[in-house]
Amino acid sequence: MSGHLAIVGLGPGDARYLTPEADEALAAAQALYGYGPYLERVPVRADQSHYASDNREERARAAAALAHAAQGARVAIVSGGDPGVFAMAAAICEEIEFGPQIWRALDVTIVPGITAMLAVAARIGAPLGHDFCALSLSDNLKPWELIERRLDAAAGAGFVIALYNPVSRARPWQLGAAIERLRRHLPPSTPVVFGRAVGRQDEQVHVVTLDAVDSANADMATLVIVGSRETRVIERAGRPPLVYTSRAAAEDSA
Ligand code: SAH
Repeated sequence: MSGHLAIVGLGPGDARYLTPEADEALAAAQALYGYGPYLERVPVRADQSHYASDNREERARAAAALAHAAQGARVAIVSGGDPGVFAMAAAICEEIEFGPQIWRALDVTIVPGITAMLAVAARIGAPLGHDFCALSLSDNLKPWELIERRLDAAAGAGFVIALYNPVSRARPWQLGAAIERLRRHLPPSTPVVFGRAVGRQDEQVHVVTLDAVDSANADMATLVIVGSRETRVIERAGRPPLVYTSRAAAEDSA
């Protein structure tokens, strides 16, 4: 079968974060699929068609892109950041696993991108400098009780925790509840990084302590990094602080 599907990570927003491989994959596509605001980042070319869809229509978007590729076209489907991190690559795999056999014969390429937690971390120091994990706070596809158990386990084991999808219009309380949960495990002085719209014009990055977190400061474009007992803040005169997680850990760190 000649159809080809590239699942392309666009990075967090800044065009300089688009890899040359991603650029090539986009240029080679005849048809481009994606969530509207992500697709808008790809310049429109007369010989390419754009199919924008809503954020919540991931499965339908994945199926449409697969069906289009199965007709023999070169199709690209885009994600912000990395397509394998809480994004389209897993949605496509779900569709391939449960969809028509013919989709298994497609040539599928996954093009990685810089994920939000790496872009945010780089802005502020090295908060992911030692053991860390990433969790999505969206309870659209998993129960909230499971998220709480994972928060308990991660904080209890001493991981730095990157929180994706902290809030949305339909999920206003989840970040506040997660922070409450983490306060049971971590000292009040634990550094917490808020990185918003990193790589875009309205970028904001700041650090607070766990006891002072106001979850109203996060929106859909925010990534939150909650430190561990090894995460420290270096204050610098005239420069923003550096937040980092030490590579050495004590036995009582978890
Ligand atoms: N695939 C994406 C993540 C999709 S989930 C990636 O790898 O980055 C969407 C969540 O990612 C948002 O709710 C937010 O938590 C985070 N995010 C995406 N882009 C961001 C950016 N530019 N700055 C900060 N956080 C971002």
